[in-house]
Amino acid sequence: MDVIGIDEAQFFDDLYDFCCKAADHDGKTVVVAGLDGDYLRRRFGSVLDIVPLADSVTKLTARCEICGKRAFFTSRKTEDTETELVAGSDVYKPVCRQHYVDSPVVIEAARVILESRKVQSDAHVEPIPLAC
Ligand SMILES: [Zn+2]
Repeated sequence: MDVIGIDEAQFFDDLYDFCCKAADHDGKTVVVAGLDGDYLRRRFGSVLDIVPLADSVTKLTARCEICGKRAFFTSRKTEDTETELVAGSDVYKPVCRQHYVDSPVVIEAARVILESRKVQSDAHVEPIPLAC
C-alpha cells in the first residue's frame, strides 16, 4: 500500500512516531483526520503534535447547528465533563464562534474544570520556610 488513512486521530497515542516512520522512513503518504481540540477547545490527543510533520494542513468546518454559519467548534448538549465522551449528534453539535461562546454548557463546564484545578493546585501548596 502507498497511502495510509487515519481517522479519529485524537485517540491514537503513538500518532507522532507512527506518522514519522510511515512518511519519512517508509515513503508512505499518510492522510490524518481528527479533532484538534475538544469541546472546551483544549488540545485533543496528539493531533497538534503532528502538524510540523505535515506537508499541508486543512482545517475543515461543519455548519453551525443553530444558525448555519461555518462551525469551527464542537459544543456538548450534556453537562458531562470528561474529555473523551464518545458519542454522536445526540451529545455533540457543531457551532460557530458566537454560539460556542454563548453556550451555557460550555460556560458551566469551563467553570467546573477551573474550580477543580484551583482545588488541586491549592492542595499542593506547601508553606515555604523562611530563611533568617
Ligand atoms: Zn451559530
